[in-house]
Amino acid sequence: MLYANAVKSFRSILARFRPVGIGHTHSHLNRGFFVMCDHPLSRRTLLTGMVAGMGALVLPKLPWASGAAQPSMTPDQALQLLKEGHARFMAGKTERPNLTPQRIAETFSKGQHPFVTIISCSDSRVPVEHIFDRGIGDLFVIRVAGNVADTDEIGTTEYGAGHLMTPLVLVLGHTKCGAVTAVVKGDQVGGSIPQLVDNIVPAAERAKAKGLTGDALILDAIRENVQQSINDLLTRSQELSHLQHAGTVKVIGALYRIEDGAIEWL
Ligand SMILES: [Zn+2]
Repeated sequence: MLYANAVKSFRSILARFRPVGIGHTHSHLNRGFFVMCDHPLSRRTLLTGMVAGMGALVLPKLPWASGAAQPSMTPDQALQLLKEGHARFMAGKTERPNLTPQRIAETFSKGQHPFVTIISCSDSRVPVEHIFDRGIGDLFVIRVAGNVADTDEIGTTEYGAGHLMTPLVLVLGHTKCGAVTAVVKGDQVGGSIPQLVDNIVPAAERAKAKGLTGDALILDAIRENVQQSINDLLTRSQELSHLQHAGTVKVIGALYRIEDGAIEWL
């Protein structure tokens, strides 16, 4: 019985490792246990590697890309992945990584290990996976009008950062946000929308208190609303606050410009 348990335990440890093949591997040690993630190389990178001959495979320039077991991905490394994907998107050089049948099968059998939790607006002009050029199993995304952080969004973020162990949480606002604009202008809304947009009211009031008007007021309220969601995440969630203080998770904000696709990191 003891022997059987030992074999089972050894097998489960072995199952966490895989031979270094096509794709790079990184690990998360963040919350005390070890999860391996594979990001298959894009076709372009693979071709580059083949052209380079039979020598070392060309791997993306990431600190954990050596193929060996690596220490945890830090918040900054996760941010770097986002910035690299967004740079490809802006340059019109998307690689559409992790969108293969192999990736579907892998994330089905081994589970999801996204590297970032994102609260974004539902606005159809902010397609999150596209603007960061990522694929299946990469981004844990909460989309809600006005990128607010109320009970459901906070709980979902706790699941992303605390259970799935994403080292980064991003609140992503965007220019011309209809939800924020409606609150700033005091538009009449019905149904369940008042309970949704009341999360935006403190941000709108802070922006108005600065004496701004017109487009400048709306834009400032949008920035304030990103900060409001971050505040709501950290003040209403002990778990997120604890993870942030421990340095294992960073909670940051950004503004996506629907005019040109650019991102202002706040
Ligand atoms: Zn919006």
